[in-house]
Amino acid sequence: MSKQFVLLPTLDIEDTERKPAGQFSTWLAENQQSGDADVPCGGCNACCRSGYFIHITPQDTDARSHIPGALLFPAPGLAPGHMIMGYNEQGACPMLIDERCSIYEHRPQTCRDYDCRIFTATNIAAGDGVKAEVNEQAARWQFEYAQETDRLKQSAVSAAINFLAEHCALFEQDLLPTNPTQIALLAISIHHLFVEPSPQAPIDKVAAITQLIERNA
Ligand code: SF4
Ligand code: SF4
Repeated sequence: MSKQFVLLPTLDIEDTERKPAGQFSTWLAENQQSGDADVPCGGCNACCRSGYFIHITPQDTDARSHIPGALLFPAPGLAPGHMIMGYNEQGACPMLIDERCSIYEHRPQTCRDYDCRIFTATNIAAGDGVKAEVNEQAARWQFEYAQETDRLKQSAVSAAINFLAEHCALFEQDLLPTNPTQIALLAISIHHLFVEPSPQAPIDKVAAITQLIERNA
């Protein structure tokens, strides 16, 4: 059995409308470090209007003090203290006012971590419906592949996403994430297993990936 991921749209736009995403291997290294994502969003706020539930952790004390309590509810399946902020009928975050984040300096870590270039790197779509604009934004980014290592790492990320698609049935039920953001992040986090073509049997690779997922749970 294989899992089909929806691919990013191909945009029919001029090169001048593409957005430089930086050197691929540099971006990949930074993406895997903890800390705020440094995304040159420009005037874009598509992800704030894309129907995301925003996870607010117990550590997000500053964000909590700036978000009305009525907008927060307990995060299903997580320990007490983890909260979720929803979105309005159009899919927009309630803290987005006049097209700007009204708590930008105090926004939750989830928002600081978000980087739509994960979809560019994995070539999978963020979702459908209200996520269409995020897909378009992700399709606009253009990575640089000036060094051989950039191409090798991009191939490894692509191999990782292909492996997850082709061998999902070999994983324990419910182990693999189902939403595109988590799938893209997983493929990026396991890409090192795919840098060199390996004689490892798929089942052994599944065991290595399972270990990594469980270690990070
Ligand atoms: S969709 Fe991407 S470019 Fe647009 S605001 Fe979100 S992270 Fe930035
Ligand atoms: S809190 Fe701010 S940055 Fe986060 S989704 Fe809402 S408007 Fe966007």
